[in-house]
Amino acid sequence: MTSLNDLPLRDTLVGKLPYGAPQDPVPVSLNVNENTHPIPDEVVDDIVRALAEAVRGVNRYPDREFLELRAALAGYLGHGLTPEQVWAANGSNEVLQQILQAFGGPGRSLLSFTPTYSMYPLLADGTDTTWIPVARPDGYALTPEGVAAALREHQPSVAILCGPNNPTGTVLDREVILAAYDAFDGILVVDEAYQEFDAETETAIALLPGRPRLLVSRTMSKAFAFAGVRVGYLAADPAVVDALRLVRLPYHLSALTQAAATAAIRHADTMLSTVADIRAQRDRLETALTELGYAVHPSGANFLLVDGFANPDATFSALRAQGILIRNLGIDGHLRITAGTEAETTTLIDAVAALGPGGAR
Ligand SMILES: *Cc1c(COP(=O)(O)O)cnc(C)c1O
Repeated sequence: MTSLNDLPLRDTLVGKLPYGAPQDPVPVSLNVNENTHPIPDEVVDDIVRALAEAVRGVNRYPDREFLELRAALAGYLGHGLTPEQVWAANGSNEVLQQILQAFGGPGRSLLSFTPTYSMYPLLADGTDTTWIPVARPDGYALTPEGVAAALREHQPSVAILCGPNNPTGTVLDREVILAAYDAFDGILVVDEAYQEFDAETETAIALLPGRPRLLVSRTMSKAFAFAGVRVGYLAADPAVVDALRLVRLPYHLSALTQAAATAAIRHADTMLSTVADIRAQRDRLETALTELGYAVHPSGANFLLVDGFANPDATFSALRAQGILIRNLGIDGHLRITAGTEAETTTLIDAVAALGPGGAR
């Protein structure tokens, strides 16, 4: 057996670890912010019909430009977007990787405000882009002044603002986006993976006109209940899409992915019908945990970052032993919990309450 250390690995990957959120088949899985409600049967049937039709054509390569899907996504996003302004890939992780392949790379940098999505530094590593983490202020909310100062100082090639931010849930003000855009000359990505859960903040897509360096990234993996299919997408200037075409693999979106996603978007209202309930479960969870003595960070997403655990590792393990999986991100005293169905949320609240004040020791 050869070990990784024996292989001529790229220097910049030596000692790095892969993305590794635990993937256990537990009864209550609240650790990766999926929509835990299953897709309604009527939509399942329509997707299966579309897949059956697509399978008949899989002797041929799929549409490399996936124009039908891009038109469907443009229609879903609204704001007068045309298919030329929309791009997609196998999850928004792949979209972000393509952005770094096109605009990052050796000698270039990616800046984001931490704690934030754990994939950003991994995507930087994978593309030999220098990772510049800048700490968020206390309470995690970004300010226009703070963000502009960091971007002016570091002048990164690419900056990502995540709103609502994973793992803190913090919403992103449009003033912060505008200040960021004007503070540097690089590519500004707003990662809106959780946008559909945020009832208050308008999408950054409204800010695209006249801002060719602004890219808005979205995913079907969260509110849209489509994590298993792997579809993420982007709205931006058509020139940005031209740049991403330089680095995408030919035919990167399979015919089956295109068919399934296009069919699902036809049912967008039904696919998103659980969002209000998930928000209600999030708020119920917040109230219950606050009553139990925990401090819950304000969240515009489908998860909560919760402070006040005496020993996060011990509470994580105690819950996992009961078939409940949440997320331990290594932030002092904190754990992150996805809002699930009413029954899942009840199971979780009861289990945390049973551990006593501050959780397991
Ligand atoms: C979950 C998540 C994504 C995307 O995931 P895909 O499944 O690859 O679309 C992107 N950004 C953030 C902040 C996320 O939490």
